[in-house]
Amino acid sequence: MHITALAGGVGGARFLRGLRHHLDTTPGLEDSTLTVIANTGDDITLFGLRVCPDVDTLLYTLGGGIHEGQGWGRAEESHRVQAELAAYGAEPQWFALGDLDVGTHVVRSQWLGQGASLSEVTARLAARWGLPEQGIELLPMTDTPVETHVVVDDGADGERAIHFQEWWVRHQASLPARRFVVAGLDRAAAAPGVLDAIRRADVVLLPPSNPVVSIGIILGVPGVRDALRGTSAPVVGISPLISGRPVRGHADACLAAIGVEATAAAVGGLYADFLDGWLVDPDDADTTLRSARVEVFDGPLLMSDVPATARIAEHALRLAATVPA
Ligand code: GDP
Ligand code: CA
Repeated sequence: MHITALAGGVGGARFLRGLRHHLDTTPGLEDSTLTVIANTGDDITLFGLRVCPDVDTLLYTLGGGIHEGQGWGRAEESHRVQAELAAYGAEPQWFALGDLDVGTHVVRSQWLGQGASLSEVTARLAARWGLPEQGIELLPMTDTPVETHVVVDDGADGERAIHFQEWWVRHQASLPARRFVVAGLDRAAAAPGVLDAIRRADVVLLPPSNPVVSIGIILGVPGVRDALRGTSAPVVGISPLISGRPVRGHADACLAAIGVEATAAAVGGLYADFLDGWLVDPDDADTTLRSARVEVFDGPLLMSDVPATARIAEHALRLAATVPA
């Protein structure tokens, strides 16, 4: 079986690790392969280094190098480089850059500078983290640099746009967002393999990633939404909201900015034109969708550890097997 998934950072990565565990421990499914299409709207250039937060979270989580407590960044990390940058007064200081993590950004920037595409660079990084051996192909959604910006209130003067990372990390999404603007997205082309991976999959999964600034950005890449509508594979999603709350992060603030209610039903509704199945928490058992089958998971829809996440993935695959594509 070949599974294609769209993913942001922590929510996507944790789900996919559970999915891989489920496949690896289920007789007959061990040979299944996975293509992961990663959001690159979070990408940012800091100190001359190209940083791809969601790609890196996927690499470290699937490759066994993640800081488990945090959900992002490297385990056993130190911050000597950042302290040195601070001593020089270099800005910005609000983005945590670990020393091991800096290694990833340096080598990525070097390869990009030598003319390699982001796809090629990501493939080289994934090789180091052992993803191909696990049957996992990691693709950036596009090789075109795109950056999500957030238009926020600027007091009496009106509004200004800041980089998504500044809004999310520095301001913790506390500045009311008016809208998201994704610089470069309308001219971006899907990265090599992205549209084919959706069209040729046996199952397409939407992990519980942020519906606006992770999945929503990938859906904005020209051709992706059409590929999802046209694929003969069932498309099944897992709700990132439980009782109207994101388990972590600020998905509710993102949904408010686009005028969508923070409920499992409303998030499923964002995917109405291509979604076939939607897995929700027991607390959201009253969820109904016009065009997709809704199933209630038999326990909290919480990715508390790898086995618990594997059970969620198993249920999503079972749902995919029963819905009309
Ligand atoms: P980010 O790029 O690091 O913010 O990660 P993603 O976009 O991939 O995922 C973030 C989303 O995952 C959050 O908005 C949460 O709603 C969702 N999430 C995180 N942990 C869980 C969990 O245990 N269960 C469910 N159902 N959703 C979760
Ligand atoms: Ca992200």
